[in-house]
Amino acid sequence: MAEITLRSLAHTYLPNPRTPEDYAIREMNHVWHQGGAYALLGPSGCGKSTLLNIISGLLEPSSGEVLFDGEVVNALPPEARNIAQVFQFPVIYDTMTVYDNLAFPLRNVKTPEARVHERVMEVADVLELTAQLKRKAKNLTADEKQKVSMGRGLVRDDVSAILFDEPLTVIDPQLKWKLRRKLKEIHQRFQITMVYVTHDQLEASTFADKIAVMYEGQVVQFGTPRELFEAPNHTFVGYFIGSPGMNFLDVMARDGSVMTGDTELTVGRGIHDAVARASSSNIKLGIRPEFVEVHAEPVEGGMPARVDHAQDLGTYSIVYLTLGSVSLKARIEEDQVTPTEQAWLRFPDAHLGLYVDEYRVEFDHE
Ligand code: ADP
Ligand code: MG
Repeated sequence: MAEITLRSLAHTYLPNPRTPEDYAIREMNHVWHQGGAYALLGPSGCGKSTLLNIISGLLEPSSGEVLFDGEVVNALPPEARNIAQVFQFPVIYDTMTVYDNLAFPLRNVKTPEARVHERVMEVADVLELTAQLKRKAKNLTADEKQKVSMGRGLVRDDVSAILFDEPLTVIDPQLKWKLRRKLKEIHQRFQITMVYVTHDQLEASTFADKIAVMYEGQVVQFGTPRELFEAPNHTFVGYFIGSPGMNFLDVMARDGSVMTGDTELTVGRGIHDAVARASSSNIKLGIRPEFVEVHAEPVEGGMPARVDHAQDLGTYSIVYLTLGSVSLKARIEEDQVTPTEQAWLRFPDAHLGLYVDEYRVEFDHE
């Protein structure tokens, strides 16, 4: 078992990289602690598979180091790294039985047959493959094949870490949910470091204690689902986490006020001061739809907004609003009044985020 450290790691697939965009992994540092259940979450193409393949040794990074428990492992081939990896599509031996497929990683490291049997039966039980053990893998359904592939990743309990690269993509939704729970159970039982790659925030937050959000080749935030929700460190995290994502307004300070376009915002002094002293003109105010206060009548400090439409989602609605020239979304619970044409908005100071050049910055709260 191991703590995995990535030190000044960068990777490009191009022979002569020139700009940051030429890098699949932009220089980054990161630590996966021993025993953690982690998710690596980000959109397609952001570098998730590249990062996993560098950790497992399938890919040699252009620069930087990978360390297991403080030892640099860059020179070690995948077999010597003692890592199990489960891929998006099944990697199994078609001509072998399910049993032999599951036994393979154990026999490979000369595990005594009695122990092989014990582990294969255990993993088959967890994945509900017991009835298929004698069947040839080629006769299985796509779902079953992927379960065998996952089983091969889970069968050794002496690995340093298990890396899952979007393993449930080919699995049907109902089974997906069940397998995710199983994985969590397995993690709790064996306390093996697990890194689970996905582009689905729900999948990430049901599996992981901590999520690394990746964007354009970098981990832009590493935190609990709650931290990602409450204090996104980067506008991308605000936008990507939550449903719908965070609202962002371009802002500037003018004549002692904070403006979005030509509309003056009612916000605290601390925000004004932070906006006024920012050295960039790329300044955004972020607020989640859950925290936009929507009033049907004028209130003190309420900013008048137009109600465009409301989407009733049962226990709550999403209201689409226009403030000045900015579109905003607000979530309204069923016991609240949903305004129809005009609304008055307030942005509670405690739930506002200020972003300069896309990263969150501090400001003095009221
Ligand atoms: P993800 O797994 O998050 O979808 P990848 O790590 O597969 O992202 O890809 C990151 C970037 O690297 C993408 O721009 C992708 O096109 C590029 N890339 C991935 N694999 C290769 C490769 N073998 N050769 C060249 N470019 C690649
Ligand atoms: Mg991928």
